Amino acid sequence: MFMKNQEWTQRSLAHVWHPCTQMQDHAGSAPPLPLIPIARAEGVWLEDFDGKRYLDAVSSWWTNIFGHRHPAIVAALKDQLDELDHVMLAGFTHAPAVELAERLLRLAPPGLSRCFYADNGSSAVEVALKMSFHYWRNTGATGKTRFIALDNSYHGETLGALAMGGPSMYRDTYAPLLLQPIHVPSPDCYPRGTGESWEDYTRRQFWHMERALEAHAHEVCAVIVEPLIQCAGGMRMYHPLYLRLLRDACDRHGVHLIADEIAVGFGRTGRMFGCDWAPPPARDDDAQPGITPDFMCLSKGITGGTMALAVTLTRESIYDAFYAEYREGKAFLHSHSYTGNPLACRAALATLDLFEETRALATNRALSQLIWAQTAELRNLPHVAEVRQQGMVLAIELAKNIRTKEAYPAEQRRGLRVYQYALEQGVLLRPLGNVIYFMPPYVIEPREIETLCRVAAEGIRRAVRD
Ligand SMILES: *Cc1c(COP(=O)(O)O)cnc(C)c1O
Repeated sequence: MFMKNQEWTQRSLAHVWHPCTQMQDHAGSAPPLPLIPIARAEGVWLEDFDGKRYLDAVSSWWTNIFGHRHPAIVAALKDQLDELDHVMLAGFTHAPAVELAERLLRLAPPGLSRCFYADNGSSAVEVALKMSFHYWRNTGATGKTRFIALDNSYHGETLGALAMGGPSMYRDTYAPLLLQPIHVPSPDCYPRGTGESWEDYTRRQFWHMERALEAHAHEVCAVIVEPLIQCAGGMRMYHPLYLRLLRDACDRHGVHLIADEIAVGFGRTGRMFGCDWAPPPARDDDAQPGITPDFMCLSKGITGGTMALAVTLTRESIYDAFYAEYREGKAFLHSHSYTGNPLACRAALATLDLFEETRALATNRALSQLIWAQTAELRNLPHVAEVRQQGMVLAIELAKNIRTKEAYPAEQRRGLRVYQYALEQGVLLRPLGNVIYFMPPYVIEPREIETLCRVAAEGIRRAVRD
């Protein structure tokens, strides 16, 4: 029989260099990482050229929040194609870019009033870094040239964004090329002692940040963090108190705060944005929860996983520092060719409509409880050191020794074994090292959750057997 999968795989391997991949893992007749050609997709399901289906439990790298080819997004895109495909956003504007900016700012934490578009998450981070530095320069604070970032963080792959990430296999190779941020121990609660609460541990870890700000505020433009979850760093989570402490400390020390919400934005944590979880200031009974960062980076889920789009939100006071006579040379001269692409903005508008129409945040809270209930079995498996959850992210950390949390050596590739087993069973679970995680589209159904949990449990049992 003519195998279509095989043909597309071979043609791809002949000429396509795949991202974030040791290509040799795809080589040979039984490769450790089989390359899977996808022909079509619908809802939470991907389908290959031989008709096999895979449950997309990681939302295609966390982008696809309402399922593949959601009819409302597809219709909006078709409609937009009949009107305007693309126009540059310098010197021109268009309805989707204007409407999307208005709507994002209504949803965002109060005090943000300006949207700067880009076309991928790393670029949104570059925009925030450059804008922060440039703001200080425009206002005369030329000594501010550095950034503070957390260990174990991830902010993208372009050189500026990569530099901000914690030491890792993604970053270390390029170290000689990179900016030198001040890296501070992470509030990630996985290493906390037995009996210590997330809140206590997070508060304790904040001490490092306070010290770094005291020592370096004069030379620091901004602190950059991923609110609540360090996703690429293994879905490591921390208490939202950290965001409140950090906001207050940045204000005290005259340093910007950049919230990289690229992965956690758009409902993933159970609220619209990770920043919305921060507790109100301690001495103010009437205060609302949530903090307003000086820059908020958004991408991934913004178009429901259909088009490449990113945006960096900021405050009017920052915008004002660039607004001047042309000859003063204060303008922000940054652009990407596809910045604010109309099709992408239109897909984003349709995605925001879905949040309203489907009451997605309430649905997510119910779904996340269901996922927690269904994973009871996982929590009792051997070598499962921790099962943690925040909204629609559930992570299962495997360890060689669950008491000491001694990790499995990376070269044993335990997570990969789970990946291989799950694929055979028609579930796409792409682990991060020894961390297996679920980050499904918000339209996943109870019986699909059941499948996911069953396959993950069996995959883990097999992966830790010897
Ligand atoms: C994915 C991600 C990025 C980078 O976005 P790209 O679109 O892949 O460039 C940056 N920050 C976080 C937190 C991310 O998860």
